[in-house]
Amino acid sequence: MSKFWSDVVHKLTPYVPGEQPKLTNLVKLNTNENPYGPSPKVIEALKAEAADTLRLYPDPNSDVLKAAIASNFNLQPNQVFVGNGSDEVLAHVFQALLKHDKPLLFPDISYSFYPVYCGLYAIDYQTIPLASDFSIHLDDYKRPNGGIIFPNPNAPTGIPLALNEIECLLQENTESVVVVDEAYVDFGTESAVGLINQYPNLLVTHTLSKARSLAGLRVGYALGSVDLIEALIRVKDSFNSYPIDRFASAGAVAAMQDVAHFEQTCQKVIATREALVRDLTALGFEVLPSGANFIFAKHKTHDGAELTAKLREHNIIVRHFKSPARISNYLRITIGTDQQSKQLIDALTVVL
Ligand SMILES: *Cc1c(COP(=O)(O)O)cnc(C)c1O
Repeated sequence: MSKFWSDVVHKLTPYVPGEQPKLTNLVKLNTNENPYGPSPKVIEALKAEAADTLRLYPDPNSDVLKAAIASNFNLQPNQVFVGNGSDEVLAHVFQALLKHDKPLLFPDISYSFYPVYCGLYAIDYQTIPLASDFSIHLDDYKRPNGGIIFPNPNAPTGIPLALNEIECLLQENTESVVVVDEAYVDFGTESAVGLINQYPNLLVTHTLSKARSLAGLRVGYALGSVDLIEALIRVKDSFNSYPIDRFASAGAVAAMQDVAHFEQTCQKVIATREALVRDLTALGFEVLPSGANFIFAKHKTHDGAELTAKLREHNIIVRHFKSPARISNYLRITIGTDQQSKQLIDALTVVL
């Protein structure tokens, strides 16, 4: 607290990301990173970029990257917005499209950055409780609102929503923007991107941090109608002209182009997830259905905080949320390699 701080800073409650430990011998299953590296073509592109051109500013419009993303989804480049991680994209989305007189709606258990952005931009919001099985009931969102946002699959539950339900919401909610945060969509959830040309109120956000294994490069993007993208560009150009540096652009373009690497690694993660769900169930865990690269699980008799601490003694870190109480017994476990799953199961067998 300081007399030098502005009023808004005094009132902020910042987001707390999962731990990035300095130790290297840990089985790190806490922040949903991809256990497989990015495409080797990304590394080549980064090396090629480490050249004299670094003295020059990058392209402020990221045209090459937007074209690479657009062609991936059969959209036009002016339907693409890029930013420094999808967290930055989301921040601009909140300011540009979700701040209105009526409240923004999102699930009570969801990505915990959403209320943080509301605090930063003074956006009025209402949380909508998840159903008793932790699913999102989109019928509950059919009420006056200044915007709707939810992740699909939801985080930290991993539960996917069906596309026809999202389409129904879009049809009934034509006066405000519906944002589908598809950070984990590539691990077995249906994407809403195919609906973009039909619904001018739909915005979909993606990240290269998870399925494309580039959390360290910081690139994310939004896809939507030209009108929505224009709003984001206006905010970005009033904030930072060059959010995508030359390395980020080169690496992201190569990642978007190597579809084979992307598909193979996603399939491996999905196969490891399915095997891990079976093994955890056999150990007495209840695992929520997951369309993501993580699972949300609780043990029938053991406490979530205690299990998290015990796993840490075995050099395994998973994510645990103390609140709200409804999820305090759950562990959010990132899907790693088969070897890491084995280490987890071996440790849990000892602990239990
Ligand atoms: C990881 C994540 C993001 C943001 O990812 P970036 O690394 O900032 O691109 C956005 N939404 C959800 C739900 C996430 O889990």
